[in-house]
Amino acid sequence: MYKCGKCNKPIHSNVNTVGIQCEACGSKIFYKERPNVKKVTKAR
Ligand SMILES: [Zn+2]
Repeated sequence: MYKCGKCNKPIHSNVNTVGIQCEACGSKIFYKERPNVKKVTKAR
């Protein structure tokens, strides 16, 4: 599960897919929904 880096909305799509963006705000920055690991993923 990933979350949007901007609006914190959960992303249900595969963030590894090229060209996806947040349904809510259009952001292309996501991070894994894990308490201790904050890994930023940029969709190309
Ligand atoms: Zn968003």
